[in-house]
Amino acid sequence: MSDKTLDLDFDKEHLWHPYTSMHSPLPCYGVLSASGCTLKLEHDRELIDGMSSWWACLFGYNVSELNDAAKNQIDKMAHVMFGGLTHEPAIELGKKLIQITPKELEKVFFCDSGSVSVEVALKMALQYWHAKGSPRSQFLSLRHAYHGDTFGAMSVTDPKGAMHELYHHFLTEQLFAPQPKIAFDDPWDESDLAPIAEMLSKHHANIAAVILEPIVQGAGGMFFYHPEYLKGVRALCDQYNVLLICDEIATGFGRTGKMFACEHAQISPDILCLGKALTGGYLSLAATLCTKHIATTISQGSAGVFMHGPTFMANPLACAIANANIEKLLSAPWLEKVAHISTQLKHYLTPCLTLENVASVRVLGAIGVVQVKQSINVAEVQKHFVEQGVWIRPFGKLIYIMPAYIIDDVSLKKLCDAIFFVVQKLQNSEK
Ligand SMILES: *Cc1c(COP(=O)(O)O)cnc(C)c1O
Repeated sequence: MSDKTLDLDFDKEHLWHPYTSMHSPLPCYGVLSASGCTLKLEHDRELIDGMSSWWACLFGYNVSELNDAAKNQIDKMAHVMFGGLTHEPAIELGKKLIQITPKELEKVFFCDSGSVSVEVALKMALQYWHAKGSPRSQFLSLRHAYHGDTFGAMSVTDPKGAMHELYHHFLTEQLFAPQPKIAFDDPWDESDLAPIAEMLSKHHANIAAVILEPIVQGAGGMFFYHPEYLKGVRALCDQYNVLLICDEIATGFGRTGKMFACEHAQISPDILCLGKALTGGYLSLAATLCTKHIATTISQGSAGVFMHGPTFMANPLACAIANANIEKLLSAPWLEKVAHISTQLKHYLTPCLTLENVASVRVLGAIGVVQVKQSINVAEVQKHFVEQGVWIRPFGKLIYIMPAYIIDDVSLKKLCDAIFFVVQKLQNSEK
């Protein structure tokens, strides 16, 4: 294995990587294989993975139950169209998702990716109001929200300073309430809800839905807000007869310490988006769930059907892996493991607060965030992390980790120590 090398020159010349220049891209590291929490690079290098491949790999890489599920399914059928046909993996997965999500959610739409599940959610909300004979044309989102990279999803992602600003003139203009101010652990104050309450009172007649990431705003700033805020928004949506869409693409499947982040506020949305960890990081699959009331209303409308149907809808291979993933999640006390990871993260990341250039340290569930005062040079910092033997990819002023639930204490400490070391190094080099 050690003499194997990848054609990184071809990669650099011809392959787009996310959010980087094609002309002078950020450096890329070649991965030969991955298992557990370890990424195996060329030249016998190994990294402890702190990113779970962007929230997706709940149980790390090369998980035997998920491998078996894929192998079993692929010999039966890798794919079959969902129009007019159905299959066991989809039926099983539908049952499981209805069972583990808030009980009002009874109807499942399978699609390809998180962004598409957000498109589906937005279309469901629009079609719901259309079917009721009172079409509405706007969505209310939050500042610092992130909901994906397709056009509908971009339109409800914070346009200011975010990655989507440059499409501004092409996007539907939506309403944005200020970011909640009160953090998850801070004392609650009703005044945090005043701005969104005012916007709803003014614009509710034309708002199809409020869309938000429950509790954790992810790619828009890794901020953990107060459960009472979410509870309050649910109540406001009821009061003003506006639908609530919860985007749990990042937060779902135990990441925040509850199976779904909505549970921190004991609320149920009208529409729920799931993705990322759904297949444990194996294949792209997402789902949009809604209430019976929404599904029935849409189906009784003049269109009579919901107007969406991706080619790879409910892909059997992806569904089979998702089933094995959820079975694994339910079969062991993973929420206890997440609580343990949380305690460890707090313990090992808190020392970062002693560093001058650290603005804040935040931990929720199996998510740890260190926010620094200056914007980070990603290429440089990534290189330092790789030298420390860890895979951590920061953005903006944020260094964050969300390790796989199988991580052991020694590896977790190594990730946290590497953050301390690298932040300290940055601080010294600035002097
Ligand atoms: C990642 C993410 C998306 C987009 O999912 P993709 O699978 O990348 O399209 C949407 N919403 C949230 C909250 C996310 O974290």
